[in-house]
Amino acid sequence: MREDSKVRYQRIKNNPKFRKRRQLESQRYRIKHKTQIVMQRETRYSKEKDNIRKNNAELKADVLTHYSNHPNGICACCFITGIIFLTIDHIDGNGNEHRRTLGLKGGTAFYRYLKSNNYPNNPPLQVLCYNCNNAKRINDGYCPHLDETNRFAQWT
Ligand SMILES: [Zn+2]
Ligand SMILES: [Zn+2]
Repeated sequence: MREDSKVRYQRIKNNPKFRKRRQLESQRYRIKHKTQIVMQRETRYSKEKDNIRKNNAELKADVLTHYSNHPNGICACCFITGIIFLTIDHIDGNGNEHRRTLGLKGGTAFYRYLKSNNYPNNPPLQVLCYNCNNAKRINDGYCPHLDETNRFAQWT
């Protein structure tokens, strides 16, 4: 009687000698193709990273174009455009406290919160560039550009 190939395989598979040989073969394969295996893994990982970065950038663009009402995003203070220069600003300050009460860490989580809650404006938000945002934070809650605007206003 001819042995069915499946049954035969099962019999061999359960043979410790055979299993040991398979193990060694696979080990040898992994050593021989180490570079290839590592490269495949890295490609997969960097593709995932690229996707995450792209999705996060799109999310930020959605939120900032909405709050600044400008297709490329615009700083409410100095009018510089370009999403990469811009961030969300809490007009009345206390942005960190607001994020903390929402239990959000990091910009992306905050952007996700804003978009999925249909862009709330309580507390009031605006778009500033990182420069104006940071200057406002260390200059008692207003960007020094505003002084310049006032100075210009006196001259004109
Ligand atoms: Zn600015
Ligand atoms: Zn400014």
